[in-house]
Amino acid sequence: MSNPLYDALFAPLSGNDRPFLYLHDDTVLSADAFHRMIARYANALGAAGVATGERVVVQAAKSPRMLAVYGAAVTAGAVFLPLNTAYTAEELEYFVSDCGASLLLVDPARIEALTPVARKLGVRLESLGEGGSFDAIAQVCDDSFAAVPRAEDDLTALLYTSGTTGRSKGAMLTQRNLLSNAQTLVDLWRFTPDDVLLHALPIFHTHGLFVASNVVLLAGASMIFLPKFDIEQIFAALPRATTMMGVPTFYTRMLDDPRLSRDTVGHMRLFVSGSAPLLAETHVAWSARTGHAILERYGMTETNMLTSNPYEGARRAGTVGHALPGVELRIADPDTGAELPQGETGMIEVRGPNVFKGYWQMPEKTAAEFRKDGFFMTGDLGMIDDQGYVNIVGRAKDLIISGGYNVYPKEVEMVLDDMPGVAESAVIGLPHPDFGEAVVAVLAQGDTAPDIAGIEGALRDKLARYKQPKAYIVLPELPRNTMGKVQKAALRQQYETQFKEPAQ
Ligand code: ATP
Ligand code: MG
Repeated sequence: MSNPLYDALFAPLSGNDRPFLYLHDDTVLSADAFHRMIARYANALGAAGVATGERVVVQAAKSPRMLAVYGAAVTAGAVFLPLNTAYTAEELEYFVSDCGASLLLVDPARIEALTPVARKLGVRLESLGEGGSFDAIAQVCDDSFAAVPRAEDDLTALLYTSGTTGRSKGAMLTQRNLLSNAQTLVDLWRFTPDDVLLHALPIFHTHGLFVASNVVLLAGASMIFLPKFDIEQIFAALPRATTMMGVPTFYTRMLDDPRLSRDTVGHMRLFVSGSAPLLAETHVAWSARTGHAILERYGMTETNMLTSNPYEGARRAGTVGHALPGVELRIADPDTGAELPQGETGMIEVRGPNVFKGYWQMPEKTAAEFRKDGFFMTGDLGMIDDQGYVNIVGRAKDLIISGGYNVYPKEVEMVLDDMPGVAESAVIGLPHPDFGEAVVAVLAQGDTAPDIAGIEGALRDKLARYKQPKAYIVLPELPRNTMGKVQKAALRQQYETQFKEPAQ
């Protein structure tokens, strides 16, 4: 028995002197040097007592080391579990105890703060980084390691969702889930060993880890591996890059920079956006400035990538393209699962080798999210337009039911975004004594302040009355997480008493 993911992604690095990672301090790590790092860490996992199938939690700053631990976990047959660096000790405690980790790796500076948590949970704690204790173990380990055999159906990563709609859930991902997706994307987006991907995404999330890194590894390509999105580092790195993958905020920030032009990005082959909706106006502005149409795609932690705009052919602004080859996608009645006709809005449901095995230790929730015929309910509402492109309408949980009518926030947001003084908007439903939920517009202010009375007047002609916001809230900007996702649940919580009768 082999280890298919290791064989496809990491084995080819061995003995290969080509550059693999270009780092921001101008050092370059060769493929072979990176492979030796992986082997040392794989040995170190064994030395730290991690057995096949056990969970290794990593909460550390993005670095080649962290990526190598991912490779080491795959090689050693352990389950890799990266965590958002923004999580506090308390949040981390939940994840570590939920997954029953046997090893926790953190930045050296965090050891002291996390020692009590590790003791309480009985998990081994080591530091990853310059002078770190896990590195000390790895240093004295051998730089070769025979990959532990794994079946395609074996669990290889446990990735927690972003927690946008509620508490994060652990998605169990198998070798097949990751490998099938990487193969599809390499083919579709035409990755070759000549590609240099500009990688400024975090690697604790599916986007930076499984889309970006796995595609580069499988293609035998290389990447400029930046610790985070930093506009200076981005513009310094662009001349050497051929492709970039980012979240929409990367693109809006680059558009705000006068250096963005045909001269600075004309040589690039591909720009990809995902993880949150790319506003059509960003897509259009980017094309006008650079001559490049950003390729928007859609996916989620549980399913890996699901759709992509075409590599060749029209990339339609405001859409996420077509289902990937091998992925079955349907728009279904949320209640019955019956497929809806083209043009109607319903639940996006998917099936394919990319779809996860289930939520970690949540058999009931897992069962509830799958249809009998094996389709997974994404929780996203969508519609297939007359040209066959998937349009994301929003999350089912964000749907507002006001006075018995369904209001799709995106429809109202698209109108609001065009109003003077509005940089962007988030439309939410808040508890209301008469309507059940009331439509409320949260506006991020543009260069000038929005004229609310003017907007209310304009909306009267554009939207049915029940869709018109009952209140407006103006903020300097919308709250977002590190992946650029607007935090609507946080907004709802903050303003939930807006329409409550004052207490007597
Ligand atoms: P949680 O499931 O914990 O609430 P989350 O759904 O934000 O968090 P992720 O798996 O990181 O966690 O994000 C997947 C979601 O991101 C998708 O279900 C979809 O709502 C959104 N998304 C991803 N790509 C796009 C896109 N191109 N356009 C619109 N939405 C997108
Ligand atoms: Mg989700």
